[in-house]
Amino acid sequence: MYQQRGVDNLIDLRSDTLTKPNTQMMSAITSAELGDDGRLGLDGKGEDPTVNELEMKAARLVGKEDALFCNSGTMANIIALLIFANRGEAIGLDASSHIFQSEKAIFKKEYFGRRAVFYESDEIGKPLIESIDNISSKTLALLCIENTFSMKGGTSLSAKETFLFCEKAASYHLPVHLDGARIFNAAAYLNQPVKNLVQPVTTIQFCLSKGLGAPVGSMLCGSSKFIKQARKVRKLLGGGMRQAGVIAAAGIEALNNIKNVHNDNEKALLLANQIRHHNGIMFMMNKVETNIIVLDLLSNNLTSHEVEKELAIKGLRVKVTSVKQIRLTIYKDITRKDINTAANIINAFFEKYI
Ligand SMILES: *Cc1c(COP(=O)(O)O)cnc(C)c1O
Repeated sequence: MYQQRGVDNLIDLRSDTLTKPNTQMMSAITSAELGDDGRLGLDGKGEDPTVNELEMKAARLVGKEDALFCNSGTMANIIALLIFANRGEAIGLDASSHIFQSEKAIFKKEYFGRRAVFYESDEIGKPLIESIDNISSKTLALLCIENTFSMKGGTSLSAKETFLFCEKAASYHLPVHLDGARIFNAAAYLNQPVKNLVQPVTTIQFCLSKGLGAPVGSMLCGSSKFIKQARKVRKLLGGGMRQAGVIAAAGIEALNNIKNVHNDNEKALLLANQIRHHNGIMFMMNKVETNIIVLDLLSNNLTSHEVEKELAIKGLRVKVTSVKQIRLTIYKDITRKDINTAANIINAFFEKYI
């Protein structure tokens, strides 16, 4: 009944945001109990019971006091950053993090005017903790991390690594915001409850709309006091919602998909293992841990835009992340048969250039 893939029947690996709601999710949407989430009841919560249920479940899942349903990961990150850093204050992050690359309004003078300062990470996205000493200053107000790290190939940070980062932050009395858009892929790879990965951070946002399969939404989680502020900031940004139970119901269903996320990691590894290393032309940047594969193009004769176009003609969509880099992302609607087909298309393409 619901189309799982585009009309052209392409294998589309551009992003895990391409997941579509399944039948169960659609029926949860139609039977959701609704109210006005923008109107606060006497308990300080909104009046949509389905949103409240989702927020309670999300908070419990990550072991924080409370949670706020936001319409995107971008908005959830922006809210957290606005709360922790004032105009002119600095936010410490990795230069290739999603927050710096995409949440641009935060760092633009004409919008929110926070400053970015960069700590160093290694090639698989592990923060070099000593490099935080180099950026510490009176105006540094917040540190951010990303798990999994999208631009470094979907690599994960362990509970221990997260703890050590937060310990360093605490030595400077700094809060830590975790961009955990794909934290469940990390938890599946590390075989750890997500709570352990999140325990030392001050706040976290995770996406419902990627691998978990919801049509819309992200959860911002933290202390009750933080979430109270976050609710106000969300409203200021125009992110207040009304009968949002319609989409929150899908979010609750999405939480039930957490147990299946390991399949996406496994399928990505399957694909990675089938892609041959075409000497001097293409190489896989990362050891594949989760659902993302990054391919670096080494040949001077090839740009990622040409690769993108050629693969699309053969029936495979990929994402261009730079002139010399493409990214493949696996999600639940990609079958094992698709994986084989995708590997064949990629290998056949690069063989032409050897
Ligand atoms: C997708 C993503 C976001 C933003 O989520 P949207 O819902 O697309 O706004 C933030 N951080 C990371 C690492 C992401 O992959």
